[in-house]
Amino acid sequence: MTSLKTAFSELKATPRMPTLFVGHGNPMNAIEDNEYSRTWRTIGDSLPVPNAILVVSAHWMTRGTTLVNVKSKPQTIHDFGGFPRKLFEQHYPAPGAPEMAHATIDLVRNHHLEADEEWGLDHGAWSVLIKMFPKADIPVYQLSLDLSKSLNQHFELAQELRALREKGVMIIGSGNIVHNLSALNPGAAPYDWAETFDQHIASRLEARDFGALSAVGALGQITRLAHPTAEHYLPLLYVAGVAHDEPLHFFNNSFDLGSISMRSFIMA
Ligand code: ZN
Repeated sequence: MTSLKTAFSELKATPRMPTLFVGHGNPMNAIEDNEYSRTWRTIGDSLPVPNAILVVSAHWMTRGTTLVNVKSKPQTIHDFGGFPRKLFEQHYPAPGAPEMAHATIDLVRNHHLEADEEWGLDHGAWSVLIKMFPKADIPVYQLSLDLSKSLNQHFELAQELRALREKGVMIIGSGNIVHNLSALNPGAAPYDWAETFDQHIASRLEARDFGALSAVGALGQITRLAHPTAEHYLPLLYVAGVAHDEPLHFFNNSFDLGSISMRSFIMA
């Protein structure tokens, strides 16, 4: 029997895979044909086919530990309420990536990662992948967000994942650059603080000033309004952490519901 506990050093080298940050926003994007979901579809068609996809989603939060899901058949998690039945009927039957997941745990040395057999694919992962890779034939696994870590610790952990990109892994961070659910205002223009934070992040990304992304606390009230809680921001640090000095392209640069930035980017 082949062991699934592959060491990172045993993985074959591949051309470097792109990495993406995707603003996932409203779960309804998974079943709606709108400007956001159509862009996901177009981008999916343009991407190389990876050996596996690692998603760091805003919706898998842990405390005091970082988990890596090692299931061979991750279940679709409907982790929301108050949406139409059609959304609950969606399933994304992609296989898991247990070997790559174990190799990821092996790779990271300065942070302790643990194997997890409970989580599957939350909507931060599948609502995007169902449009981007609708065939669901690419193995997918997730890494949790340890909310006890500082922003800089997330960034440092991410830097240790960078080598996965040369082993055929496409790393996708799924969150939102601005995310304030208590300020949702359908049909309204974005708030000033929302645009200020969004523009700040865009300019730091364009300057490849990734260190500034861990220092957004210095913006004070603007950051507290843009992110009353950190979980939708943290996946951005993972994409910045695995980035090289390579071209960056923004997409879906607009606001939904006044307080959700859908700004996304790909680095390849
Ligand atoms: Zn979300």
